[in-house]
Amino acid sequence: MRTYKIAAVPGDGIGSEVIGAGCELLEKVAGAHGFKVDFEHFDWGSDYYRKNGVMMPADGVERMRDFDAIYFGAVGDPKIPDAVTLWGLRLAICQGLDQYANVRPTRLLPGLKGPLRPELGAEIDWVIVRENSEGEYAGVGGRAHAGLPIEVGMDVSVFTRAGVERICRFACELARSRPRKKLTIVTKSNAQRHGMVFWDDNCRRVVADYPDLDVDWMLVDAMTTRMVLKPGSIDTVLATNLHADILSDLASAVAGSLGIGATANLDPTRAGPSMFEPIHGSAFDITGKGIANPIGSFWTAAMMLEHLGEPAAAASIMAAIENTTREGKVMPPDLGGSAGTRTVTKAVIDALQTALAPA
Ligand code: ATP
Repeated sequence: MRTYKIAAVPGDGIGSEVIGAGCELLEKVAGAHGFKVDFEHFDWGSDYYRKNGVMMPADGVERMRDFDAIYFGAVGDPKIPDAVTLWGLRLAICQGLDQYANVRPTRLLPGLKGPLRPELGAEIDWVIVRENSEGEYAGVGGRAHAGLPIEVGMDVSVFTRAGVERICRFACELARSRPRKKLTIVTKSNAQRHGMVFWDDNCRRVVADYPDLDVDWMLVDAMTTRMVLKPGSIDTVLATNLHADILSDLASAVAGSLGIGATANLDPTRAGPSMFEPIHGSAFDITGKGIANPIGSFWTAAMMLEHLGEPAAAASIMAAIENTTREGKVMPPDLGGSAGTRTVTKAVIDALQTALAPA
C-alpha cells in the first residue's frame, strides 16, 4: 500500500489541538483512498525550549529529511521572544530545507461572510506566492555599540539573482496552471532603489519566457487597496518575503477568519520534504479551551496530499470542508458559531464519509 511518512510538529499553543484534529482527518481520508499515512510526532517548540534551551535538537532539520512531508502547527510563546521561537524552529526548518516557495491560497468558503460586500467577497480566488528564503527575512544584519547613543540595529534585505529567478519561475508556472493565467508581481521599487529594482529586473527577464501569461505590476501599498476594492482583478500574486507576509494576513482577513487559511512551504525541486501549516499562530488566548477552528489545518492537509500526488484525496477534504461551511450548522466561534474543535472535526469527517459513500 502507498504509505507516506509524515513528521507531525504541532509546536505551540493551539498547534497540538488543530494538528491532532488534522491527523485524525488524514487517517480517515487515506483509508478511503487506499493509502496510508504514517505519522511520527515531534514535541519541539516552546515547552521543549524551556526544558532543553533549544526549540529543537541540533540535528532537527536533518531528521526531517527522512519524511515525505512535515505537518506543522504553530510557533510562538508570550514568554519567549519571537526571534528565538520563530528562528529556532519554523524558519530553521524552512531555510534548512530550502523551502523557498510559500504558497497561500485564499477563497471565501461557501456559506462564510467575509467583511467585504458579498459580491466582492465572492470574487476572491487568489494564490499568493511568497519568496520564502531571502529578501527582508534573510537574517542578515546586526547590532553594534550596545547601550551607547550611537547604538545601531540593521536588517539587510537580500535579493539574489538565483533566488528571485527561481521564485518568479515558480509563480509563473503556478499562474499558468490556473484558468485565468494571470500574475500580479508586487514590488516597491519606486522607493527602494536597489534590491527592489533588482527584483523587478529579474522578474521581468523570467516573465518574458511566459508570453501566454497576463502579467501586471503593483506597488505593495496600492496592492492592499486593490485586494479590498477589486478582488476579482487578482489571481496569482508574487511578492517578497515581507510584502507577502503582510498581504497574506490581509487576504485571510477578507476571507473570513485566520482560522481557515492554509499554507505550504515548498521545495519545488523535491530534494527534501515540504512543510504544510495553517496560517494562524499559537493563539494563546484560546489555547486549551477546545474552541480552536481546525479548518485551517484541514485545508493544510489537503495541500499536503495534493503535493504528495493524491489529488482525489485532497479534493475530498476540500469538498467535506465546503459542505460543512455551506451547511453552516456546525461552525466554530471564530466563524460565528459555537461548535468546539472536536465537534467541527466530527462534522467534517462525517461530511467526508457522506461524500465517499456509494450512491
Ligand atoms: P503570530 O504572531 O504567530 O502570527 P498572532 O498572535 O499574530 O500569531 P494568532 O495566534 O493567529 O496571531 O491569533 C490571532 C487571533 O486570531 C487570536 O485572537 C486568536 O484567538 C485567533 N485565532 C487564530 N487562529 C485561530 C483558530 N484556529 N481558531 C480560532 N481563532 C483563532
